[in-house]
Amino acid sequence: MIIMKFGGTSLGTAESIQNVLRIVRDRVDLDPVLVVSAHAGVTDSLVELGRTAPSGDADVSKIEDFHRRLLEDLDLPADLLDEQHGEMADLVRGIKLVSEASPRTRDLLLSFGERCSSRLLAAYFNQQGLPAQAVDAFEVGLRTDNNFGRARPIADDGRIVENMVKIEGIPIVTGFLGCDPDGNITTLGRNGSDFSAALFGNALDASEIQIWTDVDGVMTADPRLVEGTQPIPIMSFGEASELAYYGGKVLHPATILPAIDKSIPVRVLNTHNADNPGTVILPEYEESNSPVRAVVHKNDIHLINLVSPPMLQQHGFLAEVFRIAEVHEVDVDLVATSEVSITMTADRADHLPAFCEELGELGDVSIEPGHAMICVVGQGIASHHGVAAQVLGTLADAGVRVRVISQGAIKVNIGLVIQEVDLRKAVNALHAHFF
Ligand code: ASP
Ligand code: MG
Repeated sequence: MIIMKFGGTSLGTAESIQNVLRIVRDRVDLDPVLVVSAHAGVTDSLVELGRTAPSGDADVSKIEDFHRRLLEDLDLPADLLDEQHGEMADLVRGIKLVSEASPRTRDLLLSFGERCSSRLLAAYFNQQGLPAQAVDAFEVGLRTDNNFGRARPIADDGRIVENMVKIEGIPIVTGFLGCDPDGNITTLGRNGSDFSAALFGNALDASEIQIWTDVDGVMTADPRLVEGTQPIPIMSFGEASELAYYGGKVLHPATILPAIDKSIPVRVLNTHNADNPGTVILPEYEESNSPVRAVVHKNDIHLINLVSPPMLQQHGFLAEVFRIAEVHEVDVDLVATSEVSITMTADRADHLPAFCEELGELGDVSIEPGHAMICVVGQGIASHHGVAAQVLGTLADAGVRVRVISQGAIKVNIGLVIQEVDLRKAVNALHAHFF
């Protein structure tokens, strides 16, 4: 069997839902299990409800109206979601009464997004002659801890398969949701449906996990900034991890770990361009002849320099620097050190003043805003000579000054920091060179 996960934007309008039906119909032979997000925008509205309800001015009608319009557009019974809407309204009333929404209550509230979308989709499939059944993940055994809002799964003991084989027709499972050992509904964190898809793929031993979204796969660079980008046909999990960090927003690699654990390929596909082969992510793959998979970047980077003569011949110095970073929750991405100085990058501008003040006890600190980080990603960088030389040569030719360079011994990437004003020029030059 395969897992087909459809995100909110694939389910946002009647037209997209009709499209989803066509895509699934074409693949019924592959024995699909669907995992779905809430319709686009619904989880945001539910979050807003949870935030405003305690002070009394929350209104559930926006979500109800949205669902009713979809039902009408798809010729589905107007009362199809009345039970869920009723429960949701009761819950919001309760929150207003006690003027408080605990994390547990907020997760329960968020659950109505997926509980409604799975039911609506199943009803539409059945109406169109494709037998399907809505499945609540928390009913079939997706168990988690009780860390509400960001629950972590508890290892599956086989109960998911046991429950799923009883489902008749195509199962349409709620993404994003699980339940804790006490039976409370939990959520896996925003955008958690990809994670759900990987967890179900793992539990059911899927032969492939398809993530249906609204782009043609993982791109070789950010199309908003770079000309001539293309979808990457195949990439390794390590490459995908590097990419995701640099704002490759398509898929967060942590979410597909359960798939990688069982070597299940994860394919990113476009609901609005279904014939496109997309990008397939594998634990590993055979080297192609091109060393570079992508050129990605991150804006709004601050360079932090610490110059400290006492650092000379002293151990424990870096440990102290990172301890301070930890205290101030500053994420250090890239580091370069010498005997007397250390340069690092950080992207939590709001935390930097306090961080730098404490860092000042170790030496002279300066902060330089207005930088960008570029990462040239590709497992082939390890086996090809001179990729770093090509990167630097290309940037030199483009007239871009490089401030920091980092290349690890496990060479999945080369990281660079440049001035933000040079970013467009730099990524375009690198992309044109490698692609
Ligand atoms: N509906 C949830 C969210 O918007 C989960 C998901 O879309 O993956 O965060
Ligand atoms: Mg999503």
